[in-house]
Amino acid sequence: MPIFEYRCPDCQQEFDEIRPFADRDEPVSCPHCGSRRSERKISLFGTTGWSSGGGSAPSSSCGGHGGFT
Ligand SMILES: [Zn+2]
Repeated sequence: MPIFEYRCPDCQQEFDEIRPFADRDEPVSCPHCGSRRSERKISLFGTTGWSSGGGSAPSSSCGGHGGFT
């Protein structure tokens, strides 16, 4: 399961949570103060944009591999 980063607005602490991707936006209890208003930080997931609007996947455009030898 992926690791997500959260930040607690009550105690300003940041912490990581390992949870299913589908539950990434579910409220998680802050391990420091117990608040459930923690906000998920922007992580690598969803910022690269490789999962949305595909079509230009990097494929092996140069067919002649092994040219170094
Ligand atoms: Zn907290």
